[in-house]
Amino acid sequence: MSNSTLLAQPESYMAIYHELSQYNVHLNIFERLWASWYAYMQDDVIATGIMSFGMHEIVYFGRSLPWIIIDRIPYFNKYKIQGQKVPTISEQWACTRLVLLSHFTVELSQIWLFHPMAVACGMRTDVPFPAWTTMAVQIALFFVLEDTWHYWMHRALHWGPFYKYIHKIHHQYSAPFGLAAEYASPIETMILGAGTVLVPILWALISQNFHVLTMYLWIALRLFQAIDAHSGYEFPWSLHHFLPFYTGADHHDTHHERFIGNYASSFRWWDYVMDTQAGPEAAKRRRERKEAKLAKQAAKKVQ
Ligand SMILES: [Zn+2]
Ligand SMILES: [Zn+2]
Repeated sequence: MSNSTLLAQPESYMAIYHELSQYNVHLNIFERLWASWYAYMQDDVIATGIMSFGMHEIVYFGRSLPWIIIDRIPYFNKYKIQGQKVPTISEQWACTRLVLLSHFTVELSQIWLFHPMAVACGMRTDVPFPAWTTMAVQIALFFVLEDTWHYWMHRALHWGPFYKYIHKIHHQYSAPFGLAAEYASPIETMILGAGTVLVPILWALISQNFHVLTMYLWIALRLFQAIDAHSGYEFPWSLHHFLPFYTGADHHDTHHERFIGNYASSFRWWDYVMDTQAGPEAAKRRRERKEAKLAKQAAKKVQ
């Protein structure tokens, strides 16, 4: 049943909420608020579109704001990876302008297309919500699959012409900051964003077990991951110290500083397996491996 058909004649949002609550005592408060929203809007595409766009803006700028504040507090400078390169307010503002332009053009149209595409593939928007364990398992799977997509597409974007015409914009900041996470060409936003959006749609198609709330939680966590990776700060309590395969700012900052290597988004395994780890330590390990190989070959020749 479509959410918009739950009630025939909508009044105010709160009136719908109270009426719906009377007959749906088994639903929790969030599920009632959710169902009332869809009933109030009378159009599921618009209801999902407004909620998705609003959520994206709140999470993106809400998560970037603490990093903007931290940049202005000298105490935190000792944790800045490229300590000498703290972004100025005018740099942050120039970045915000381009990010907003991208949100209101490319991303808004993608967000609007998402609902019809995902529903056609079997996505649910009704209540009750799925179990949190179901959502957690799906989100973990999306992180792994998106990371794979991101690694190969991002690596491809570093190929000469692709880099020059598409990816160069994202590399304008050799010392990134939170707001710069989505500072990119519209083409790049579409290519890399596909990993975040198409993976869940594909999952909906295959499993026929996917709810749009899982999509929201996934997008929010993915935005946290991307913004934190661009923050430019490495703390003793950063997540990768507890989950060694997680990337974080420690991994992606080096990518912006050196332009080569560390292409993955969330996990370190692809760069490890494909030998594309960036930074002086990885270069040293690579050199040592090469020298050891040459020494082995030389020893074989002597024998
Ligand atoms: Zn890059
Ligand atoms: Zn980046």
